[in-house]
Amino acid sequence: VRIYVPADTAAIALGADEVAEAILAQAQQLGISIDLVSNGSRGLFWLEPLVEVQTDAGRVAYGPVQIEDVASLFAANFLQGGTHALSLGLTEEIPYLKKQERLCFSRMGVTDPLSLSDYEAHQGYAGLRRCLHLTPTQIVQEVLDSGLRGRGGAAFPTGIKWKTVAAATAPQKYIVCNADEGDSGTYSDRMTMEGDPYMLIEGMTIAAIATGATRGYIYIRSEYPRALTVMQSAIEQATAAGYLGDNIAGSNYAFHLEVRKAAGSYVCGEETAMLESIEGKRGVVRAKPPIPALQGLFGAPTVINNVISFASVPLILERGAAFYKNFGLGRSTGTLPIQLTGNIRFGGLIEKAFGVTLRELLFDFGGGSASGRPIKAVQVGGPLGSYVPEQYWDLPFDYEAYAAVGATLGHGGIVVHDDSADMSKLARYAMEFCALESCGKCTPCRIGSTRGVEVIERLVQADTNSALKPTQEKLLRDLCNTMQYGSLCALGGMTPNPVISALNYYPQDFGLAAANPA
Ligand code: SF4
Repeated sequence: VRIYVPADTAAIALGADEVAEAILAQAQQLGISIDLVSNGSRGLFWLEPLVEVQTDAGRVAYGPVQIEDVASLFAANFLQGGTHALSLGLTEEIPYLKKQERLCFSRMGVTDPLSLSDYEAHQGYAGLRRCLHLTPTQIVQEVLDSGLRGRGGAAFPTGIKWKTVAAATAPQKYIVCNADEGDSGTYSDRMTMEGDPYMLIEGMTIAAIATGATRGYIYIRSEYPRALTVMQSAIEQATAAGYLGDNIAGSNYAFHLEVRKAAGSYVCGEETAMLESIEGKRGVVRAKPPIPALQGLFGAPTVINNVISFASVPLILERGAAFYKNFGLGRSTGTLPIQLTGNIRFGGLIEKAFGVTLRELLFDFGGGSASGRPIKAVQVGGPLGSYVPEQYWDLPFDYEAYAAVGATLGHGGIVVHDDSADMSKLARYAMEFCALESCGKCTPCRIGSTRGVEVIERLVQADTNSALKPTQEKLLRDLCNTMQYGSLCALGGMTPNPVISALNYYPQDFGLAAANPA
């Protein structure tokens, strides 16, 4: 009998390892032979630890399972899919999962993450194999035609980056994966690395073939110890199987891949600071130009993409650009793995084509707030994303539609707040976060963020009718304007997003009668 218990960090934090041990011990005691697979998480976090059993009808799920449930699960004959109070039926039929459009996450929780044969049995390396029959130019064209845009937050067309690096002439080129997933409420990169690591390796290998790069690095945040271990093992196994190293899959292409552990700095998620860090220097942002595609790692042409961007590539090459482009709308093609967190009843990973609305995500998937109170504000796109008020919850998830109202999709992280949230405190926190994480290179961010904390405090503390109120509000808006347009990188440049959106949509939390954007 085959049983699946996730070895994903979120599931482990909820006791999955102990549940796995208890299942093994109980089976041994009963003299039952089981094959326990440590799979990735399905991303239904309120059901973790989610235990699945392979039956003739398909995989049957039980959750959330605690150690004390194990004996009764065996008594209920769960190994044959027997009914139990924790029965969830067929995993694929769980509505939260069934309503999704899983392209990137199609194997997530289905396969054994470190089994290459399992990966190959589920379309793994089909994209790479097709690439071996294409020219590098054709591969780049396929990525260009797919419309894939960077999933790290900037949404820059991936194919254009690749084309620039491919056209550059240099003795050495690099592929760098930015896995420094530091945005609050995000985990799609972590889940990918822990739950489907070969997909990332395959995507980076395709990028190497397309651009003429022969070396690559995955820069993983130090707070992800399990992702670091899994990626390291996957690289070793892929190398042993001939998918990395010289003569990839019997071809004349070579690609050597290594993991680099980050050191806990948010700004090292900015691509040029990350390059400095990989080079062994302090993580300080570089001025652009030159762009990394021409002078990146060690001064050489470098493709830098986020985990999900690379992970989207194997499928695009396997099924073709037209298939991928069929998902999404307008210039936002494909799907986005959305991470629903904060004060929400059913938090988890939702992969949907662009076009889904925040309201669908919050209520159809999320089931409303965890506290049962009305949802007041939703921060979309990480700590530098705007707070999105209810008037925009019916906008389609689409890079342009969000940009039009001063918001961003970023890396797809959603953090929900109910009506007990004080938006002035959240605005102050945004400035404080920027002050803590600023690399210090440019003045608007380094000084502005500290002054921002002070101005917000003065604004909130000023008496409602005092002259100080409007002057501090104006000062805050001026400061945000300077940070937005004067900062060297997105940390200083986007910190005003949460601050100004809080001020505009929730003025009462600052003791202001109404927004005064002038
Ligand atoms: Fe550094 Fe902040 Fe300037 Fe970015 S905006 S370069 S983090 S000081």
